[in-house]
Amino acid sequence: MKYDYDLIAIGGGSGGVAATRRAARHGARCAVVEFDRLGGTCVNRGCVPKKVMWYAAHIAHTLNDVEGYGFDVQKNGFNWSQLVEDREKYIHRLNGIYEKNLAKENVEFLHGFGSLTDAHTVKVGDASYTAERILLAPGGTPVVPDIPGAELGMTSDGFFEMTEMPGRIAVVGAGYIAVELAGMLHSLGADVSLIIRREHFLREFDEILSSTLTQVMHDDGLNIINNTELKALQSVGSKINVTTQDDRDLGEFDQVLWAIGRKPLTKDLNLQSAGVEVNKNGYVPTDKWQATNVDNIFAIGDVTGREQLTPVAIAAGRRLAERLYAGKTDLHLDYSNIASVVFSHPPIGAVGLTESQAIEKYGDQVKCYKATFTPMYHAFTKHPQKTAMKLVVIGEDEKVVGIHLIGAGVDEMLQGFAVAVKMGATKKDFDDTVAIHPTSSEELVTLV
Ligand code: NDP
Repeated sequence: MKYDYDLIAIGGGSGGVAATRRAARHGARCAVVEFDRLGGTCVNRGCVPKKVMWYAAHIAHTLNDVEGYGFDVQKNGFNWSQLVEDREKYIHRLNGIYEKNLAKENVEFLHGFGSLTDAHTVKVGDASYTAERILLAPGGTPVVPDIPGAELGMTSDGFFEMTEMPGRIAVVGAGYIAVELAGMLHSLGADVSLIIRREHFLREFDEILSSTLTQVMHDDGLNIINNTELKALQSVGSKINVTTQDDRDLGEFDQVLWAIGRKPLTKDLNLQSAGVEVNKNGYVPTDKWQATNVDNIFAIGDVTGREQLTPVAIAAGRRLAERLYAGKTDLHLDYSNIASVVFSHPPIGAVGLTESQAIEKYGDQVKCYKATFTPMYHAFTKHPQKTAMKLVVIGEDEKVVGIHLIGAGVDEMLQGFAVAVKMGATKKDFDDTVAIHPTSSEELVTLV
């Protein structure tokens, strides 16, 4: 045979593993190259450990609520170190499962840093392997700003290495990670300041989500410092002093956490040796077939700069494998209407167009249905959190093009509604669906 493998994936995260396993199931000889533990960002320093911490924070909220339900419970503390230790054991188990799953499907795991030598050759350490096709799935890494003292701060990677809870922490950024980590740290008892450079956070999301969460955070005592760009961090003993571009001194923090976005891990892949194009931000552009500009080289996941979500990488990888190795010649991922959840407190769920995106696209054809209410659970708690919902519909038949939710339980609520949106449901379809009572989700089918 001409090549060592039919397909080599560079990157043993969600995308690379899913694609090669699926390709191998259809008879392709596959390998995955990974220098770190298998599972990528999601398993090792992303979704999985984050969700463990979110559950802990969620329990902290519940403990604050129990009195209203007649319980007399004393909270004696929270053992961060123990939880982190147990969380890491769980992740090690997952790493092992990933390795076993690769072996089960006869996908070889090549441990080491992979880079290209040419369009058909991957170098791993001192060895070189050839493949008919190469899949780039190296993922990304957090961005650190270029300001004096930035290295004193940590990123989400550092957050997952923290074995003790910080006292006073500044979380800088305005996206998923900033909002999630600030919320969970605050819920677990840290003194958190969320520093955002503009008026609001989560600006990519519908306005109802950002404004509702801002209100909840204020009510909950989380310090949000908006319209603030940082100038420098400075070490003061064991603390970090933070100053702003307009020369304000924000004081001393135990930790500073950068959550200002992520960048693709393409710099060291030697992509130029194969002529693979990258854009100015280092992402690898792909077409709807996940194809790069080089015939036999494909890319999936965060490195493509599209939706940076684990299930997106998996879905794109599996479809690519089915197309290349199972004869499903037209199969590709439809990137529209991908639902996502922000694990804030309470969580946020969104699918489709925001109100302003819809207006930009459809003008006065757009109509919105909204509801804001206190869920029944909070009728008995001392810290009620509002739920807010918005349906964005268009045209005479009121096709639903966006659903935006914040509130208890919406993280689990959205998936089913996302199916409806994907199928082209109208407001009438929602109205025709008999409600489940008493739930929060029934509000979505009874909006007027
Ligand atoms: P995001 O791209 O979501 O948000 C980062 C934001 O930080 C920017 O949008 C910007 O907002 C702000 N920012 C950028 N530069 C600076 C700066 N120099 N100083 C201050 N603020 C700045 O990045 P994240 O790191 O939060 O997450 C990366 C990706 O990971 C997400 O896009 C998401 O796809 C994925 N992810 C998904 C999760 C989930 O599904 N639950 C959880 C975590 C991550 P602005 O312009 O408004 O200031």
